[in-house]
Amino acid sequence: MQTPFYGHVRQYEKIKKEIDDNINEVLMSGQYVLGPMLKRFEGELVKYFGTKHAIGVGNGTDAIWLALMAMDIGPGDEVITHPNTFFATAEAAWIAGCKVVFVDCDEKTRCIDPAKIEAAITPKTKAIIPVHLYGQCADMPAIAKIAKKHNLKVIEDNAQGIDGRGDTFKQGELSDAVATSFIIQKNLGCFGDGGALFTNDDKINERVRKLRSHGSVKRDHHSYGFNSRLDDLQAGVLSAKLKHITEWTDVRVKLAEQYTKGLKGVKAITLPYAKPGYRHVFHLYVVETKDANKRNDLLDFLVAGGVDAKTHYSIAIHKQEGFPWGKEYKIVGSIANAEKNAASCVSLPVFPELTAEEVDYSIKKVLEWDRKNS
Ligand SMILES: *Cc1c(COP(=O)(O)O)cnc(C)c1O
Repeated sequence: MQTPFYGHVRQYEKIKKEIDDNINEVLMSGQYVLGPMLKRFEGELVKYFGTKHAIGVGNGTDAIWLALMAMDIGPGDEVITHPNTFFATAEAAWIAGCKVVFVDCDEKTRCIDPAKIEAAITPKTKAIIPVHLYGQCADMPAIAKIAKKHNLKVIEDNAQGIDGRGDTFKQGELSDAVATSFIIQKNLGCFGDGGALFTNDDKINERVRKLRSHGSVKRDHHSYGFNSRLDDLQAGVLSAKLKHITEWTDVRVKLAEQYTKGLKGVKAITLPYAKPGYRHVFHLYVVETKDANKRNDLLDFLVAGGVDAKTHYSIAIHKQEGFPWGKEYKIVGSIANAEKNAASCVSLPVFPELTAEEVDYSIKKVLEWDRKNS
């Protein structure tokens, strides 16, 4: 038995006709960039997401830095986030020219700890980038309160959190913009690179629309800009998939429940925490070994046993090799939780096309390891 980590082809096979029809529609339209399919998909995103605007861009990283740039945040400015996230969260801020300030994550959710943010705020601080890590929304009400008090912008990094929310808020309601990624391994994934920015702010919308396309929204007229657009073929793929996102999230949640039930009572492992009052979308099901020195052993044991487990992310961003401008960061306070997370995390397979039997096999292997190590 094997438990794979991804189900890209399984998903395609399930809704092949819907995807193929949209791809054919784009091919026959003769319009492949900034064409009618992108416009249609942006409209569908607005309807689904509930923000006033949705702008398709080249990828999730661009969505973050284009948002920063549209907010006039750049060189000389500081942006606060946490170091146990995918590299791109900080990378995007560096591309925009900002200095990245890392604070610790919460002990349980592994999202940014709002209680650690205020100590990191200086006169140079301009924005907070909370990440909805693993599919768990960050504590947006607390973050919004701090941002309001200190007049800071908030960009939600939603690359892992599409379809998530809190009982008292939706994504985009308590921030200035929400950036997402559509690369295939994300919960809503296309067949290449893609991303989007959501916002209720007309000015950010107008600016990002210009920035993504050579500073131009009118033929022959340009201002400062770049090239970062979600192409129509990808928009077509995503339009077909968007119709299934709620149902797919529900399956992820069910599989996560199966894991949590099956792994109840483990002694050498901590199970992921889903915060009450939130819809955790389980982009990843991340366990942690209580002893960080045993993480690689668990990982190797699972992989050798046919469970394609991975790590997200075993090296915290400030420990990466970096590159000249990437060294522009500051750590404020202890980041012990983030370092523990990086040192001990193991992601078990979870995706909507995974079968209950495959999850059971994965559970069986984890239990075997736990018995030997507790
Ligand atoms: C995937 C991801 C990104 C970057 O998205 P790309 O589309 O690969 O540029 C940013 N932040 C987080 C948390 C991610 O998981």
